[in-house]
Amino acid sequence: MTADTPRSPATLGALDGLLTALDSGSVEIVDLTNRLSSATPTLRLPEPFQNLIDFSLETVSAYDAPGPFWRHANIHTGEHIGTHLDAPIHWVSGRDSHDVADIPVRRLIGPAVVLDFSAEAAADPDFLLEVGHVQAWEAEHGPLPAGGWVLYRTGWDRYAQDQEAFLNTDDTGSHTPGVSAACAAWLAGTDIAGFGVETVGIDAGNAAALEPPFPVHYHLMGSDKYGITSLQNLAQLPVRGAVVVVAPLPIVGGSGSPSRVLALVPRGA
Ligand code: MN
Repeated sequence: MTADTPRSPATLGALDGLLTALDSGSVEIVDLTNRLSSATPTLRLPEPFQNLIDFSLETVSAYDAPGPFWRHANIHTGEHIGTHLDAPIHWVSGRDSHDVADIPVRRLIGPAVVLDFSAEAAADPDFLLEVGHVQAWEAEHGPLPAGGWVLYRTGWDRYAQDQEAFLNTDDTGSHTPGVSAACAAWLAGTDIAGFGVETVGIDAGNAAALEPPFPVHYHLMGSDKYGITSLQNLAQLPVRGAVVVVAPLPIVGGSGSPSRVLALVPRGA
């Protein structure tokens, strides 16, 4: 937008109001993103499946002979590493839909609600969210937001610096909370933009055993919706009233991307 692009007073007022609110603290920015390094916990698929590489930083110069006045590095990473977005083409059910570069940016900013099932997940790491849970939540807190994000709080972010605890794997698989197949299908029929979780993926650790396997991936990606994973700090968000900004890299042909996820949160004056 150039300086002489016509804008209505209402538009100017909204943006001025946002900046004033950020300066005064009446709107706070909460970073929902896990810091990205070679130590960031990542998915470990069992044999015979192939895993992505972890993130790493390869320094090329650091104010030395290869670059005396600058520091720069190559990054090496899989798409689905750390806090990241799943685009529709990530799953076979969405293979003809958008890649991460083609997601309409308008859909990456929207209202968020937080469904807190951290007590249930603490009691049972295999806890699955059911349709009845969401409907009971809606009866208490109102409908899921059109064009918005459902953020599923399980308390799993407390393990986000510990690969073993984060995946919680034993000889019967990975035990992390998720969503039932029926609830995944139900969510896909709503008009939300996406579903965010604190765990390593948008499905439960043992979701390969569900029908269809990995039902949140299957139903959401197949309905032009998005997933975001490895979120943190959901405990700092209100049940509703936050606005989430999801910023994946526009990787052409990409099935996902590490993403910065920020929440704008109103605070009482
Ligand atoms: Mn993913």
